[in-house]
Amino acid sequence: KDASGNITSVDAALNLENKDFKKTLKLTWLAVEDDPSVYPPTFCVYFDNIISKAVLGKDEDFKQFIGHKTRDEVPMLGDPELKKCKKGDIIQLQRRGFFKVDVAYAPPSGYTNVPSPIVLFSIPDGHTKDVPTSGLKVNAPDAKATRWEFKQPTPFLRTREFLWQEGHTAFADKEEAAKEVLDILDLYALVYTHLLAIPVVKGRKTEKEKFAGGDYTTTVEAFISASGRAIQGATSHHLGQNFSKMFEIVYEDPETQQKKYVYQNSWGLTTRTIGVMIMVHADNQGLVLPPHVACIQAIVVPCGITVNTKDDERAQLLDACKALEKRLVGGGVRCEGDYRDNYSPGWKFNHWELKGVPLRLEVGPKDLKAQQLVAVRRDTGEKITIPLADVEKKIPALLETIHESMLNKAQEDMASHTKKVSNWTDFCGFLEQKNILLAPFCGEISCEDKIKADSARGEEAEPGAPAMGAKSLCIPFDQPAAIAASDKCINPSCTNKPKFYTLFGRSY
Ligand code: AMP
Repeated sequence: KDASGNITSVDAALNLENKDFKKTLKLTWLAVEDDPSVYPPTFCVYFDNIISKAVLGKDEDFKQFIGHKTRDEVPMLGDPELKKCKKGDIIQLQRRGFFKVDVAYAPPSGYTNVPSPIVLFSIPDGHTKDVPTSGLKVNAPDAKATRWEFKQPTPFLRTREFLWQEGHTAFADKEEAAKEVLDILDLYALVYTHLLAIPVVKGRKTEKEKFAGGDYTTTVEAFISASGRAIQGATSHHLGQNFSKMFEIVYEDPETQQKKYVYQNSWGLTTRTIGVMIMVHADNQGLVLPPHVACIQAIVVPCGITVNTKDDERAQLLDACKALEKRLVGGGVRCEGDYRDNYSPGWKFNHWELKGVPLRLEVGPKDLKAQQLVAVRRDTGEKITIPLADVEKKIPALLETIHESMLNKAQEDMASHTKKVSNWTDFCGFLEQKNILLAPFCGEISCEDKIKADSARGEEAEPGAPAMGAKSLCIPFDQPAAIAASDKCINPSCTNKPKFYTLFGRSY
């Protein structure tokens, strides 16, 4: 943005990995809000081969890569030819490999209050199956990401746009970078366990599932027992020097004064967490919010008021409820009261259950006489009588108990649905019974492709559909056992030695 707050440029990048890609890849790109009559867009497009820039540096390769142009002929920002680029223009890439497409956008000078355009890439039908794409990132100050590479969006879990927390760091030392990858992963694990009461398995992605531009990817994987499917909770990548070499990200070595390439990491956690939280904890009555993230942790509901209740008794009850609310707020509990008199207590119980509030605090005239309240747990429905004198101590403790018990329940669920298997029959059998599987695996990409294909139930299963094959979720840091000399890779046709236990499963 410039000083007056107008958007002056937007950059977007699409990283593609298409190792097995044999046909011409067509990319369509467009600016959603590009109305050329209002502000003619200018774009520039760069192609680069992330693995080896040098290969593409040769004009011959470059010509082959983007069709007919040499590197110098590729239009740059402001080039008259590119000003003609419009919505839906198609770029043809004729090379195999890993490459990157950058689009930069800048409204011409003199145009003010230009809406921020959203640049989208799409891969025409018929290509998406062969071309896994690792995504489109739009750099925007509100950390909003846009991705366009999948067919079937799922609310929260996989959306075209999502909010995220992302980090990009650069280090002189590889070891320092490697340490940070794990430090961040630990923090992401804590978001799940400590805030959302959801257990996760920490591990490393296989070569097939890692972020293709990086050296390795670490992940936290969660499990949804209702569907028997796993979900990648968050990822922390070590990018090595792949990007620093490509983009000349260097520092001066203080001892030798020489320029050196940095080691980079990147990591991200998204609004997917909300979807995972809903699916792991909710029940047929609605949401069940973990206390550490619930906006309202306890809701006070006055009860037992009837048409026959005297005005002063009613006023006394409401005052007592408000005093209770105030004490709890003072004690650090996120507490509110529902004092609406046009709804019955029963209606309010349903209302707050649906919203997942962890504790309902019922106070009626009889409770007041006995100087107590009845706390009702959202997660179990259990009713607990608590003396009013103790609320500052008992309610926070009860919220902690609820957190622990929600986490334990989810942990038991995950543990009982994680099966250690050593043969293919068990692998497929347990998979069909909605489990995830720990199996000895050689780590080869071709082998993983075969496991996925052979464990699928339908030929044309959509990614993520219940009939899809099992993919590797991670190589858990915490291995269930050492690989024995007699162990075989879980793919029956594989002759390689297994290297580690790998967690497999259907996943979102
Ligand atoms: P990545 O940059 O691919 O490592 O993404 C970081 C994290 O974002 C992943 O581990 C997922 O948990 C999450 N994520 C990826 N794609 C989406 C999406 N389309 N919608 C919501 N969350 C996503």
